Amino acid sequence: MCSYQGYKQISGTRFHDLDREIPKEVYFMKNVHVLDHPLIQHKISLMRDKNTITKEFRELVEEVSMLMGYEVTRNMPLKEVEIETPVAMARTNVISGKKLGLVPILRAGLGMVDGMLKLLPMAKVGHIGLYRDPETLNPVEYYCKLPDDVTEREIVVLDPMLATGGSASAAIGFLKEKGVENIKLMCLIAAKYGIEVINKEHPDVEIYCAAVDDVLNEHAYIVPGLGDAGDRLFGTK
Ligand code: URA
Repeated sequence: MCSYQGYKQISGTRFHDLDREIPKEVYFMKNVHVLDHPLIQHKISLMRDKNTITKEFRELVEEVSMLMGYEVTRNMPLKEVEIETPVAMARTNVISGKKLGLVPILRAGLGMVDGMLKLLPMAKVGHIGLYRDPETLNPVEYYCKLPDDVTEREIVVLDPMLATGGSASAAIGFLKEKGVENIKLMCLIAAKYGIEVINKEHPDVEIYCAAVDDVLNEHAYIVPGLGDAGDRLFGTK
């Protein structure tokens, strides 16, 4: 059982996939960007509220994803071009370099796609679906459809809740197996445990989130979190 700096465990809880060894001294909250813009923070608070209904929750996920997308794309390279304004010729900047791809993890990641596409209408969207094998407890891919040119793209993996990190880590692993080299992970709420798992298993991946929560409960839900993001997005509970 892992128990280390920064990870507070609720007493008596035990998570199957937390049994993996993680060296406690090395990986602690690296590569994490917490997007603390007041609009993002306000909307995250509304999402956390259990009285927020499905329609509002879905709209909030879309809005926050769009606002976060602004920061996630901050380092996109620019190139100078010349265009003609109605007044004169101008040298001005446009985005250059690698194209973007979005890969939501089914199903909750779907809620983040539309907000990102509002900012990045030319991005292609792949999908990865995972379930946990009841015997081995390892994440197993049950659906994977990626753009043909996925290896030429910078990929943003979308998953609103980074809890144990199992699904996100597996999805990133699948993308790497297919040859993708440039991957970012965007989530709404990240548990410290999940961050450490990604740090350990994918030290090259930058994590973007709106909040970091301390603990997981016995069902591996983030506490305080916002509940089951998929259920709240799709009204299934
Ligand atoms: N997935 C969710 O939807 N919520 C959590 O708290 C953890 C994982």
